[in-house]
Amino acid sequence: MELRLPNWNPGSYKIRDFAAHVDSMSVTDQEGHPLPFFKVRKNAWIVEVGDATVVQAEYDVFAGQLSVRSSWVSEGFILINPVTAILYTERSRAWPQRVEVSVPDGLGRVYSSLIPGDSSARWMALSYDELVDSPLVISDGQPANFEQDGRVYHLLDVGDDTFWDSEQALESLQPMVAATNALWGVVPLERDYWFFNLLVEGRGGLEHDHNTVMMTSRWNTRKREDFINWLSLAAHEYIHVWNVRRMRPAGIGEYDFEKEQYSPSLWIAEGLTSYYDNLLLSRAGLISIEEYFRLLAKDLHRLELTPGRQRISLRQASRDAWIRQYGDSPNRVNSNISYYTKGAVVGFALDARIRDETKGRRSLDDVMRLMYRRWADKAFPEQAFPEAVAEIAGDRVRRWLEPLLDTTQDPDVDEALSSFGLTLERQPDRVAAELSGEHPGAGLGLTWKAQSDELVVATVAAGTAASQAGVLPGDELLAIGGQRLHRDNYEDKMSRLAPGESVELLLSRHGTVFTLAVKLDPVRPQRYEIRFSEEASSESIERLQTWLGQEMNAGLLD
Ligand SMILES: [Zn+2]
Repeated sequence: MELRLPNWNPGSYKIRDFAAHVDSMSVTDQEGHPLPFFKVRKNAWIVEVGDATVVQAEYDVFAGQLSVRSSWVSEGFILINPVTAILYTERSRAWPQRVEVSVPDGLGRVYSSLIPGDSSARWMALSYDELVDSPLVISDGQPANFEQDGRVYHLLDVGDDTFWDSEQALESLQPMVAATNALWGVVPLERDYWFFNLLVEGRGGLEHDHNTVMMTSRWNTRKREDFINWLSLAAHEYIHVWNVRRMRPAGIGEYDFEKEQYSPSLWIAEGLTSYYDNLLLSRAGLISIEEYFRLLAKDLHRLELTPGRQRISLRQASRDAWIRQYGDSPNRVNSNISYYTKGAVVGFALDARIRDETKGRRSLDDVMRLMYRRWADKAFPEQAFPEAVAEIAGDRVRRWLEPLLDTTQDPDVDEALSSFGLTLERQPDRVAAELSGEHPGAGLGLTWKAQSDELVVATVAAGTAASQAGVLPGDELLAIGGQRLHRDNYEDKMSRLAPGESVELLLSRHGTVFTLAVKLDPVRPQRYEIRFSEEASSESIERLQTWLGQEMNAGLLD
């Protein structure tokens, strides 16, 4: 019998080697007699079963890394991701699985979207795949609940909730759920849905069929912008109930826990989900039109300031998820474009294009609903999506879409914005500075991290002043023009220099101090801003209101 542990977790496309955390294994038969076993691969053990009718494996699992896809045990709460802790065999993978949990006194209760068994300690899953889709949370917290469209939803805040406003969170989740259910038109949940909300000063989320595990800061209900980010994360994970959990791209239709699975369609699974997570907050009335514009402008800014978008197409970035998306290479900014970011922007441009082409009669919503009707619980080939676009909006839109997926062509976001009567200001801070007669400042085109007082280069964007001068990630910035740089004066010094000015950089690399001549860039914009155009037609205004699901207020029309 071959016992295995998965090497990766569905929803997070990177080999994680969970078996590295398994130790001290012993295997016995029905009478407790040891059975011989040996390791054959990094994540697999062969057991010589002989005449045994029961095979019992006992082992320790290190659970001291906290993330939405790992396991964590502390006095405050316990998170068990079965993918990191429960062995399987290929044969028994399709069988029903029974889980029994014994919780040390005083730690609280077990919460899970598994099927409850005949006691509070016992749980059932219809298959191993359902088991690994169902994390177990042990907490002394109390879930809060609401009902929407005949389903029950639970919010379980886990960890120190001193500064977290649970009531505010629950009240906002309900309209988000209602707007999301309305988008899809069907609610495929077979039982209650759980938002497991870990208040641990981190950020992350992972989607499952009947739950999501999210990590957030307990301070996030105290600041509007942070709370919107949390709502957007919750919406993102909930949209995945349809997009990727049940409507799944070919390539990851059936999971192979042993190795990487390749799909060109993660831009649909993650990018379109990222487009809708903010949009649905507007449709739910949870954010204003101005707040939505700020979120959209952030995506446009992030896309256009990532040089990697000129190196890799959306479909290739999706296939390369395993080596590019989750890594921490300092060159990622130049070699990759996130399928979340570009996927979201392509989703926006496509939505605008469909509305334009069909004179406002159809939208991306229709494409998503058609895709779901056709492909729920069946793996869809990449071509299914462009074909659905052609069916809803015509072949011209499909032909417009293809190069945005297969080449490094940028979506025309200005055109998309203009169909809603909007414009994009790419240098709002420079324009504001110039209007008030202030100096515009200069930039190098790098990011840095401070190590005590040292400025260590983290990334160097291709085509920028720093890149042309030969600055490398890992270099320490010592001085500019002979003047000492440190983290408290970097921004100030740069703001006093001018684009085009030639200066000398003093750096340290692997212990050697040297200089580089550099010609400064214009300062990179910190943000973009979407504005309502004064010449917008009444048709554009109407289209914008349908798109965002709310009325323009008088202030915007001024
Ligand atoms: Zn996602």
